[in-house]
Amino acid sequence: MTWTIDTSFPGANACGAALDLHDGAPALSIAADPRHGPEALWFRLRLRRLDSAAPAPWLLVRGVDNLLGGGDGSALQPVARCERGPWQRLPRGVPVRHADGRIDSRWRLPDAAALIEVAFCIPYGDEELDQLLADTRGRLHLRSIGSSEGGRPFLRLANGDGVEGSQRPGLFILARQHAGETPGSWVLDGLLRRIAELGDDAPLTWAIPFTDCDGVAEGAYGKDRHPVDYNRAWWTMGRRHEVHCAMRDLARWRARCAPRLCLDLHAPGAHERDGSYVFTTIGGSAAASNASTAWAERFAAALGGRFASARFIRTATYPSRWPRDTHPSFTSWAAEQQHLDALSLETSYQGHGDTAFLEVDYREIGRRLADALRS
Ligand SMILES: [Zn+2]
Repeated sequence: MTWTIDTSFPGANACGAALDLHDGAPALSIAADPRHGPEALWFRLRLRRLDSAAPAPWLLVRGVDNLLGGGDGSALQPVARCERGPWQRLPRGVPVRHADGRIDSRWRLPDAAALIEVAFCIPYGDEELDQLLADTRGRLHLRSIGSSEGGRPFLRLANGDGVEGSQRPGLFILARQHAGETPGSWVLDGLLRRIAELGDDAPLTWAIPFTDCDGVAEGAYGKDRHPVDYNRAWWTMGRRHEVHCAMRDLARWRARCAPRLCLDLHAPGAHERDGSYVFTTIGGSAAASNASTAWAERFAAALGGRFASARFIRTATYPSRWPRDTHPSFTSWAAEQQHLDALSLETSYQGHGDTAFLEVDYREIGRRLADALRS
């Protein structure tokens, strides 16, 4: 068996690669690299076959119970593609339980390919963004609204520059505050495709596709990233430079539209197979809370049973490393400080029940949200 592992491309992540044997079959064993953060989840790597007779190895992820929501791996269906073809879902993981209590999980990789790429979920980076721009043929444009802390261009997509004082309805969207949460990007991709189709009938839509763009490029998961989580950095001038730039951009946007909604796109814990659901804002006025609940009800109806969780409207009460009152999220800053309607949407890495999501499903969620926003 001769394979090489490649983690030298943007968005790649794997550490401690080793060759292992499981039930007599070769397995490539890796761990997800936390990239200097307190949480790990994202992995992505390429395997190149150097010996044409070599069968594909199993993929074994060590310490799957260390991943955020990883459990024993049996709810997880990572993705793979051969020779840069379409992404496919792997079957659910097979837990490997050790005598000392550690849990790994393994997946059989597709055979008969010279290049296999594997990732925790369907990747979304610069290539996919370029494809979105090409497919929408000039109806969306990209601007740099600042620089990341790592010196990368900090990008915003829009369907127009807008006109100061205009009363055109407006939508402001963030994705990838947590760099590994690629379902949020695919939802945004579908939403923006629909916005582009609608032309002048669409709200003025500005969207930051990669809020933690350094993390996206570096293959970080980015949840609770040091020195402070992007989605806990919405305080006064912003505790991260990208947040500061996004705040300034939101001020430009709101001067050019009649704001309708601020939307923040995420993915939940690794094992959740619950389609999409929203977190309404906590704190702020009763009016803001009622407004975000009304948007949530509209979204639930638009997504229907195929995509919406049976528990669609939730309040974020899960434990946080930072106190929420001094480390506000984007939506609580938007609602409490800016008096804007705001919601965050969580979309599963896996799917809904036994149905595993592919790009087409994520995009359909985004498309339905765009139609709900338009109406
Ligand atoms: Zn998130």
